[in-house]
Amino acid sequence: MTEAEAISIMISHMEGLFPKTCPNCQRQFVTLRDFMLNTMPIGNPIAHDLELGDLRPLHPVGAVTVSNCRCGSSLALTSDGMSVFRYWELLIWAHRETKRRGLTPKELLQYVRWEIRKKVLSELNELSSISWYENSKQKVSTKPTTICSAGWS
Ligand SMILES: [Zn+2]
Repeated sequence: MTEAEAISIMISHMEGLFPKTCPNCQRQFVTLRDFMLNTMPIGNPIAHDLELGDLRPLHPVGAVTVSNCRCGSSLALTSDGMSVFRYWELLIWAHRETKRRGLTPKELLQYVRWEIRKKVLSELNELSSISWYENSKQKVSTKPTTICSAGWS
């Protein structure tokens, strides 16, 4: 399994978790993209089985990633509902990548979360935080100066 395959499996699983409603403020997130644009990622994604080094768990503890709704409530996306074989494949891929890249499971999952975010948000040409930053930088540097204002006042 390649990184692109692993990421697309995770994205299609997560897309299947929507629509989702915040139990506190009742805001409905229609798609994964809607969710990513309107919540704030919190902490690190956790895959308990990966941390434990159990790559073919018969009863997986599962993986979870938490984001905060604008109302402050924590909303979790989990691996619940994914077929156990799919989940094993992802665990095996992730375990291999931690060894190959010299990363801890936590670091690898943090990287994967960012890659998923980039992919989901860029698919529809949504501004990522990076292009937002580039745009705001551009606006500052092209701001008209006030050199000629003296002549007009
Ligand atoms: Zn909410």
